[in-house]
Amino acid sequence: MKDKYGVNVHTSYIAQVKRMCGLDIGENYNKSKKENPEVKRCPQEKVEYIKDALRYFSIIEREVKDMNIFSVGDGEEYDLTRENYIAKTHKRFPFYQNPKRYQNPYFAICPACNNPIQIINLFGKQYEEEQTRNTTMHGRHFIRSVDGLPLYNRENYDACPIHNPIAFRIRRIRENEPINEEIRELVENNRNKIAIDIRKITGILLKNERINRILDDYIAARDYCYTHTNRYNIPYSILYTRESINLFGQKIDTSDLGERITLAIRNNSRYFDVKVGRIIKTVEEFVSLYLLVANHRVQGSKQYMTISIEERGDANYVLFQEEVEMKQYIY
Ligand SMILES: [Zn+2]
Repeated sequence: MKDKYGVNVHTSYIAQVKRMCGLDIGENYNKSKKENPEVKRCPQEKVEYIKDALRYFSIIEREVKDMNIFSVGDGEEYDLTRENYIAKTHKRFPFYQNPKRYQNPYFAICPACNNPIQIINLFGKQYEEEQTRNTTMHGRHFIRSVDGLPLYNRENYDACPIHNPIAFRIRRIRENEPINEEIRELVENNRNKIAIDIRKITGILLKNERINRILDDYIAARDYCYTHTNRYNIPYSILYTRESINLFGQKIDTSDLGERITLAIRNNSRYFDVKVGRIIKTVEEFVSLYLLVANHRVQGSKQYMTISIEERGDANYVLFQEEVEMKQYIY
């Protein structure tokens, strides 16, 4: 630290910053308390130096991804809700750790790489996310070992698809790997759940027959072999690799997203309207309305996709566009 910034930092400052970042501060915490009971608060400029140094040594990661799933080592994967977390961990060791050691003592396991994860904002805004100011509940990788949980494994962490998502625009095929077959089977065996998730993501209540055709095309084209596809992003992979989905005659969800889509069609479309939740044509000509899911973007702790609705007649016209935050789906 002195070499790079020419400043000296008291070890208790480093402990304070680590604590802010939700890191294990181990023995030093107790020691410094005994030796120096009047610990001064670390000045803000030094907080930044220390964080930078911690990042350099990979102690805090620049971009730790949020996740909304967890496991407890029973071979199952769960959606991260407060109810699920309490039911599966009973808030007991090793999932609940000593709060003197961890400012945020709630832990679980990443279903994708079997490394420890920390649960952020399990109880409301009790824990203010330091890096992202994100106050919604989520999990994130904890890049050190935690007593009683599987040992932290750097190699698995680096290969974890949640930590290291592959950009969807990279159209590279994964050849002869068991993961391809695994994903194909997940699609085949979870058609109903995938249909529900696709409706939730897009705000469009696509009919079963429409979704089944989409899934058939996805499987026939072997689009699950793209390297960007993993067990947890299947509905996005399906939507992204379909070029466009015809929306004529489909119904729109009453969700917030659905309401915004309805409004956009009513206000912006030259050829279509929404009647009792269903998309109808208002002209005789041959025109169409398509859903497109594109522009996968990874930024900071989150991933995004853009949902667009485009009408095609004399000219193409995008009448709705919105970037949505991606989450993990389990099947
Ligand atoms: Zn992981």
